[in-house]
Amino acid sequence: MSTSTPQPDGFVTGSVTDRLLSANRSYAREFSDPGMDARPVLRVAVVACMDARLDLHAALGLQLGDAHTIRNAGGVVTDDTIRSLTISQRALGTRSVVLIHHTGCGLEALTEDFRTELEDEVGQRPTWAVESFRDVDQDVRQSMARVRTSPFLAHTDDVRGFVFDVHTGLLREITTG
Ligand SMILES: [Zn+2]
Repeated sequence: MSTSTPQPDGFVTGSVTDRLLSANRSYAREFSDPGMDARPVLRVAVVACMDARLDLHAALGLQLGDAHTIRNAGGVVTDDTIRSLTISQRALGTRSVVLIHHTGCGLEALTEDFRTELEDEVGQRPTWAVESFRDVDQDVRQSMARVRTSPFLAHTDDVRGFVFDVHTGLLREITTG
């Protein structure tokens, strides 16, 4: 998640979707069905922040069909992330998990007060945690721990965590402990 500036006033949601649809028509014209199986070739699932500056395929040299990519705000390991990882491993054959947080994440600017503010505004408290954090290294460690201790996952021996630097494009590995 980024802290980029909001879209200018008058930006129409429909118009960006139309632009995407136009791009899709061009894509489909050049597209040829590679006839792939749904099981990722590299048997890896990557959990990463949804940040728009992080191009997972380019940053990791991934090709179409190589990996599952599971993204959310922060790249945090929530129950729903575990749901996807469980399906990834047990139904679609992945064995390794790569976790990627990044520098300058929008979640660092939030606190759990965000939920209270939401409740004040809409009259309903969200059931989910914001999963905000102050120390990105520590949050990667927590995410690795959540994966490694999940009872649902069949493969937890190859779980590694990283911080992506949005300025250099480099990954920095986070060690446990
Ligand atoms: Zn982020």
